Amino acid sequence: MTRVYNFSAGPAVLPEDVLKAAAEEMMDYAGTGMSVMEMSHRSKAFESILNDAEKDLRDLLEIPDNYKVLFLQGGASQQFAAVPMNLFRNKKAAYIITGNWAKKAFEEAQLFGEAVSVASSKDKTFSYIPDCSDLPIPEDCDYVYICENNTIYGTKFWELPNTKGHDLVADLSSCILSEPVDVSKYGLIFAGVQKNIGPAGVVIVIIREDLIKDDVLPCTPTMLKYKTQADAGSLYNTPPCYGIYICGKVFKWLKSMGGLKEMKKINEEKAAILYDFLDSSKLFKGTVEKKDRSLMNVTFVTGSDELDAKFVKEAQEQGLVNLKGHRSVGGMRASIYNAMPREGVEKLVAFMDKFEKENG
Ligand SMILES: *Cc1c(COP(=O)(O)O)cnc(C)c1O
Repeated sequence: MTRVYNFSAGPAVLPEDVLKAAAEEMMDYAGTGMSVMEMSHRSKAFESILNDAEKDLRDLLEIPDNYKVLFLQGGASQQFAAVPMNLFRNKKAAYIITGNWAKKAFEEAQLFGEAVSVASSKDKTFSYIPDCSDLPIPEDCDYVYICENNTIYGTKFWELPNTKGHDLVADLSSCILSEPVDVSKYGLIFAGVQKNIGPAGVVIVIIREDLIKDDVLPCTPTMLKYKTQADAGSLYNTPPCYGIYICGKVFKWLKSMGGLKEMKKINEEKAAILYDFLDSSKLFKGTVEKKDRSLMNVTFVTGSDELDAKFVKEAQEQGLVNLKGHRSVGGMRASIYNAMPREGVEKLVAFMDKFEKENG
């Protein structure tokens, strides 16, 4: 068996301890004589998997009691619609456009009302986070929306926007659980888990209770109402059981690692290894403004498409895989989520150094 260092942006690397534990429990989960994939979502065994997952997530993020946690399907992209459907009262929201995912959410909201772009970093191909301290946020808007970590471009909001009293809605798909978060600063957080938590198929929604209402847009399907899902404790219909089980194992792994303060420290150290190299390299260059750099997705180029392609290919031959940048931007991207060991980043930098000497 050979494991590679997988720098994929998502679905992405998972902790080996989690994969091993899941393998061990595959044929017989906790004496039930069946795998988690085969059991009823209403069984005692699954009930405790779901309850534990929620409790551990609450512990990790210190989620206040007046927030509900939902484990849903449909991915982050479905939340682009669910958010306006559930939160529109005046049918108006302010969007900050910092990349493809924010833009998609913005366009989806336009199907249901007035989405206003109040800031954008498109002028410099999304290589920075705009100043959001004093934006023209409409008085009557229902929420302010951000994509907190821009998976494709490699930028991160290190300071939340001044929402001028409006609720903040944030897509945390690619940075959730990479650091502590003050949940009380948000009205709603959602995250597809396939970046920094678990297998594709689960999206986590953390929503302040007063935002869960019955009077949603009349077109809202039952399944997309947060009220339906919150009232049923994520068990309105069959949830993504196996995915939730793996997420639960990752939450326990994070706790065993020392929690999110410790993860942040580890993530800062890992990212620094890569960014320090980029800043001293004559061949490779980081593509985003230093102050806005993501700890999770590190984007860089050589300046030559040919050399980029050569680098990606030769890195792959060394077991450093999925380093190609998103198809919309090219270049390279190393996603170094929680589960990427420090050793993987060190190996990558050693290879970059060697490549630079051979091709510089
Ligand atoms: C990957 C990603 C999405 C899309 O997630 P799906 O679960 O595939 O819909 C949305 N937002 C961000 C920030 C992402 O990284």
